[in-house]
Amino acid sequence: MPHRVENQPPPLADYNLWQANPLLREAVQREGAGWAEARLNDYGMQLGTADMQEQAALANRHSPVLQTHDRFGHRIDRVDFHPAWHRLMAAGVSAGLHSSPWADPRSGAHVARAAAFMLHAEVENGTLCPLSMTYGSASSFAQAPQLAAQWLPAIFTREYDSRFRPVQGKRGALIGMGMTEKQGGSDVRANTTVAAPAGDGSWRLRGHKWFTSAPMCDGFFVTAKTAADAAGVSCFFMPRFLPDGSRNDIRIQRLKDKLGNRSNASAELEFEGTQAWLVGEEGRGIPTILQMGVFTRLDCSLGSTGIMHQCVAQAVHHARHRRAFGRRLIEQPLMRNVLADLALEVEGAVALSMRLARAYDRTGDEAEMELRRVLTGVCKYWICRRGPALGFEAMETLGGNGYVEEAPLARFYRELPVNSIWEGSGNIMCLDVLRALGRSPGAVEAIVQVLQPARGSNSIFDAFCDRLVARFRSSQLQEQLQEQLESQARRLASDIALAVSAAILLQASAEIGDLFCRSRLDGPAGSGMTFGNLPEHPAMPTLIERALPTIG
Ligand SMILES: Cc1cc2nc3c(=O)[nH]c(=O)nc-3n(C[C@H](O)[C@H](O)[C@H](O)COP(=O)(O)OP(=O)(O)OC[C@H]3O[C@@H](n4cnc5c(N)ncnc54)[C@H](O)[C@@H]3O)c2cc1C
Repeated sequence: MPHRVENQPPPLADYNLWQANPLLREAVQREGAGWAEARLNDYGMQLGTADMQEQAALANRHSPVLQTHDRFGHRIDRVDFHPAWHRLMAAGVSAGLHSSPWADPRSGAHVARAAAFMLHAEVENGTLCPLSMTYGSASSFAQAPQLAAQWLPAIFTREYDSRFRPVQGKRGALIGMGMTEKQGGSDVRANTTVAAPAGDGSWRLRGHKWFTSAPMCDGFFVTAKTAADAAGVSCFFMPRFLPDGSRNDIRIQRLKDKLGNRSNASAELEFEGTQAWLVGEEGRGIPTILQMGVFTRLDCSLGSTGIMHQCVAQAVHHARHRRAFGRRLIEQPLMRNVLADLALEVEGAVALSMRLARAYDRTGDEAEMELRRVLTGVCKYWICRRGPALGFEAMETLGGNGYVEEAPLARFYRELPVNSIWEGSGNIMCLDVLRALGRSPGAVEAIVQVLQPARGSNSIFDAFCDRLVARFRSSQLQEQLQEQLESQARRLASDIALAVSAAILLQASAEIGDLFCRSRLDGPAGSGMTFGNLPEHPAMPTLIERALPTIG
């Protein structure tokens, strides 16, 4: 006689991810994209179905498979994906995650797209990689008008076309990038791949890339060195197919066997005379390709924030249904502290990353451009670093159920570290923040201006800002202090993240902002290092309710 299953929660499925996320809804209004509500509502509804959750699980269970050769021995270098991957990609492209702010550049377009990206992250993450790189590619294409004219029309459609054929015959196109080589990733100047002119305006590349994700993209921005500028690195565009319709010789040697991000393929490539076209100035390849990288860095913060929100929603949902020691978990004081602390972390991450997205909408505003320059590294470092710790804690609220593959939390937990590693690892981000602050007094001023409206509203915040601004001044000291400055760069980036998050939260809700300041800017021992250390505070029930509003 089978036993009756009791005290297990129903799955958290078939709900509207947008409606269930007041944090994001408020941020979209605050940051200037209120006009996008209806479409975000539709996307939240589409993504929240049990069917989409199932597609996400399938795409990650059935990792892509590399076919290097056909049965006759010809190289084909093709990667085959599970149909679920294509379903998820089609959803992301139809929502415009890969290009909407460029195709329809209205005020608030980057914020609207950021919100949709965050919603997608709550369901599946491997698909976000090619969508993000394609989004970033428009700014690298801007430096090569001829290529832009040829490629952007296919990138700007809302059609996902996975066919392996020349872009001229496709209804949609996706773009990847390859910089990292075996001997150096962060240090792109260590690239050994070389490029030689082919005599027809194109170049021939010889060398390799140790990591190139989404290798089924239609073209890639890659870095290589030319003989004329062996010290510098140049940027090239390498299409999968050549103008005559033949296959470009991009050899996919292997796919990485990864901790997470398993729905997405990440490849090792080799080039033996592979054809490519120079983009931007010879020897200026790093700034050229980083035009693209700055957008993908923004997306790392958005993606981690989306995952973090879903992890906390899952934790709150479980705690509402699961009973232990005679009470529901959500009624247990210590569990409430953990849940409220997790929810507070997500409040900060949503506020911070959506504020950053707004800076991407204000390209004509000097102060916003300065802010974007500093805050992109700050957010990527801080949010992506907090993500894995939060993912673990959320997983533990489900007890043993959190650790098994059927629960999405195991997958989300594995997913979180990669947003910190790729597109510039943590230390590299912090050094970038230091560089941005050191190079321009406008950058310091831009941060000070974001903090200003919240000044005077909370004494802990005020004292924290005073200390931070004093340190800013010393970060502009002369070069002999560079070594000491570098060793403190994580501290500085973290403090900027905390101060900006606190400023936004204080303005949105004095109560939540106050708890953020008490626990993160002036906390008791252990606060901020592990979750569940909040002082008793009236904001705690609000935070838990906001993390996953009770339906009905
Ligand atoms: C799943 C996955 C997919 C990827 N996809 C792509 C892709 O599509 N295209 C691409 O080009 N790359 C890709 N990468 C590569 C990724 O961008 C690099 O791994 C990353 O930039 C770090 O480079 P590295 O591995 O060479 O490490 P290293 O550069 O050797 O760095 C190792 C560590 O040292 C630290 N470090 C480096 N320099 C300093 C310093 N001066 N001071 C202090 N600390 C320092 C770094 O922060 C890091 O923690 C991918 C990686 C992964 C894991």
